[in-house]
Amino acid sequence: MLKENYFDNAATTPVDDRVVAAMLPYFSERWGNANSLHEAGLEAAAAVERARASVARLIGAEDPSEIVFTSGATESNNWVLRNYPGAWVSPFEHSSIDAAAKALHLSLLPNDDLKILPPPESVDLISIMKVNNEIGTIFDPEAFRPYATLIHSDITQAAGKVYLDVCKFGFDFASLSAHKFYGPKGVGAMYIKGGESLPPLLYGGEHERGARAGTLNVAGIVGMGVAAEIAADSWSDDWEHAMHLKATLFTEVGKIPYLMINGSADCSPYIVSLSFLGIEGETLVVELDRLGYGISSGAACSSRSSEPSHVLSALHMPERWLRGTIRISFGRANTLESTIALGQALYRTVEKLRRVSD
Ligand code: PMP
Repeated sequence: MLKENYFDNAATTPVDDRVVAAMLPYFSERWGNANSLHEAGLEAAAAVERARASVARLIGAEDPSEIVFTSGATESNNWVLRNYPGAWVSPFEHSSIDAAAKALHLSLLPNDDLKILPPPESVDLISIMKVNNEIGTIFDPEAFRPYATLIHSDITQAAGKVYLDVCKFGFDFASLSAHKFYGPKGVGAMYIKGGESLPPLLYGGEHERGARAGTLNVAGIVGMGVAAEIAADSWSDDWEHAMHLKATLFTEVGKIPYLMINGSADCSPYIVSLSFLGIEGETLVVELDRLGYGISSGAACSSRSSEPSHVLSALHMPERWLRGTIRISFGRANTLESTIALGQALYRTVEKLRRVSD
């Protein structure tokens, strides 16, 4: 698939060439374990510390010691929820919060359409994502401070993409993942305000100052650091680019009848959720793939599931619309031309599928 025709950047992004180049030596020439006390280990540890500073800068952490590297946002999300059995979570969360909350019997915050409502009484922790991965809605977890001692936010779809300052927002915990901002998969981080200790999820070695056991994925962490540096410098240009692409796409798909645009007016420009009446979202994804375009029928983590999306269900979207939902998510490699072509391909394909089902 051509990178410019890949419109599923909320699922993952292609790794930036500069990130790959920075990672490569850490597989072979600089092989050290970051916990070893000899030269090879110290070299790896220094690279990890540089990456920690870059990630801290990207999200607005006050100090690099507030960043703990993990295997990704799924681990970070599970880690925080496991420690707060009285936590309340938003109904719009990614499955790594939603499924963990179900397994841990946590409570869901009530909602009125896209508005998340407070819990009935003050609680110890509230978890609300900054940007939703299915419909792109931007939430304000910081507004829930009066109702919770601690605020956790899954910032996976926000980091490197939208204005973010965990310190100014007053988050106590935040989860993020490198592969959503042109870094490698399988590496992420947890922001812990003040570098406080949080009982570990995994028991084992004294890595990450005892916060997270397991030999550090040095190459992956180096990649995350470089991706964070690039994103810190380019996020506002990327945002403008995504705004243009979104407006261009809307001009094209606006011509399609019986179309619903999900989310809200002030959505992230990177994520567009559309519902087409009388069509199956999956069929549209397969048809578009045959034409060379990568789109999604929802969150990648649940796009193989036959269950309707819990996010769209929380919005009480009627089943006949829900089934015809697709997600288009923009990235740096998409162009105006490829976006116009995608819009036209969608128009033709929706028309064809509707004709067939008539
Ligand atoms: N949270 C959100 C909002 C996401 O979009 C994703 C990735 N789909 C995750 C968490 C999980 O991240 P990871 O792949 O690093 O486990």
